[in-house]
Amino acid sequence: MARRFTWRRIFEGLLLAVVLIVIVRTWLIAGILLPQRVAGPSMAEAFLGPHRPVTCRDCGWQFACAESLLPERFTARCPLCGERENDVAKIAPVAGTRLLLDRATFSYRAPRRWEPIVFRCAEQPAQSYLKRVVGLPGEVVELRRGDVYVNGQIERKSLAVARTMGILIDDTRYRPASGRLPARWRGEVEPGGGKPGTASDGSGSTKTPSRWQYVDGRFVLEAVETPDAPKVEVEPNAAATTHPIDWLTYRHRRREDDPLAASTAVNDDYATNQNVSRQLEAVDDVVAAVRLTTTGTGALFLAVERAEGRFVFRLERSGGSLTRDGEELNRRMAIKGPLTALGENRSLTLEWGSLDRRLLVRLNGRLILEHNIDATATTATEPSRPSLAIGGRSLGIAVESARVWRDVHYLRSPVGVPPAAVPRQHTTAADAYFVLGDNSPVSQDSRVEPPGGVAAQRILGRPLFGASRRGGSRMP
Ligand SMILES: [Zn+2]
Repeated sequence: MARRFTWRRIFEGLLLAVVLIVIVRTWLIAGILLPQRVAGPSMAEAFLGPHRPVTCRDCGWQFACAESLLPERFTARCPLCGERENDVAKIAPVAGTRLLLDRATFSYRAPRRWEPIVFRCAEQPAQSYLKRVVGLPGEVVELRRGDVYVNGQIERKSLAVARTMGILIDDTRYRPASGRLPARWRGEVEPGGGKPGTASDGSGSTKTPSRWQYVDGRFVLEAVETPDAPKVEVEPNAAATTHPIDWLTYRHRRREDDPLAASTAVNDDYATNQNVSRQLEAVDDVVAAVRLTTTGTGALFLAVERAEGRFVFRLERSGGSLTRDGEELNRRMAIKGPLTALGENRSLTLEWGSLDRRLLVRLNGRLILEHNIDATATTATEPSRPSLAIGGRSLGIAVESARVWRDVHYLRSPVGVPPAAVPRQHTTAADAYFVLGDNSPVSQDSRVEPPGGVAAQRILGRPLFGASRRGGSRMP
C-alpha cells in the first residue's frame, strides 16, 4: 500500500511541475511579460539605448553619449558645466535600458497621454519601437514652441510626468574644479516687488550689496535685519514691506570658451546627441529643485522669469499671492497644504518653475500653488532667457543644494527633415495614437510617418520598470 502511495505522490508532483512550467512559459516568458532592451537613442534621457557612460573630468557629473551619435573627435561636452574635452574613446559601451514589456494592461484600458508604449513597426513586424503617446484617437496635434497643442489647446503635463522626462541642466553638488564656469546662482537685490529691469544682471552693477553668502557649500541669507546690518530704505520711513527683496537668482551662464557664452538662454540640448549639428531652440520651461531650511516669520518669495514676464510668488504661513511684472495677478492664492513648515528651521524640499505655460510650486512633494499663463501672453518674439529666483524678507534661508532641470522640448520635425515638409497639424486617425520620442531632434515618430499615427492593433504594450536609474541626465 505504502509503495502505491509513493508512486501517486511522485506522479502528482510531476504533474504540478508541468502545470507550473506551462503557466510560467505562457504568462511570463511568452505571453504577458516580455523582457526587452532599448536599442536606439530616441527616448533618451528616460530610456537610453546603447551608450557610453562619461564622467565629466571637470564637474564629475555622469552622463550618457548615445553609441550611434558619438562625437567626431571622441571628446564629449558635459551637459552641466560645458566642459568639452571629455574623452570617450576608451569608454566601453553599455547596452540599452532593460525593460519588461507589459502586454496585458492595454487589453482592459486604452493607452493614456504621456504614457510610453511599445508598438510593432509597420514594414518590419519583427521590429518594435518605444515612443510616448501624445495624441489620442481623432485628435488634432500641433507642436508649437516645444509644447503640445491638442485641438488648439495647450496640453499640460503634470509635474510628476514632466519629472520623468526632464533634463538636468545644473546641480550645485557638481561644481567644476577648474572654476571656469561662472556662478549661475547669485545674490541680487531688487527694490520693490519685482519690476523687470530693476534687478541687477548679476554683473555687480547694483548699488545695494546682496546679503546672500556662499558658506560651506550652502547659500545663506541671514534671518533678521539687526540695526547694524546693511539695510536699504527705498524711501524715507519706508514700511517693512517696501524693503527690497534679496534674491538668489539662477541664470544659465556659460563658460567663456562656449560659442554661446554671451547668452543665458536655456537650449534644447541633449547630452546623448554629441554629433548632431543643428540650430538649438530656446526653452522657457525650467524648474528649480532646492533643499533648504528657513527661519523667522517673514515671507518667502519665488520668481519665475520667462518670455511672458516676471512672475513672483509671495508665500507666508497665512497664504500666497502672485504678481506679474510688479502688477498683482492674484492677491489671495489658495495654497493646497499647510505652510506651517515655513520658518521652523526644518529641512524642506521646494520646487518651482514653469511647465507648459503653467507656473508651479511644490513643497515637500506636494503641489501647493499653480497658475496657468494665459494664451494672450505669448506674443514675445525675442528668445527668452528664463531665470528662477528665491528670496526672503525677514526670513532666513539656507539653500543646501539646488538643481535646475528643463522640460522636454518638441521640434516640429527631426533633424534632416525640413519643418516645411511636415504638416503643421497632425490629425490622428480614429483608431490610432500620435506618438513622439522624448529625444525630439533624432526621433523618427508620428511627425514624419505614417500619417494618422500608430494604429491601435500595432501596439504591443507598455514598458515596466524601464526608465534608467543612472547614467543619464534626467532627474533622479
Ligand atoms: Zn561637467
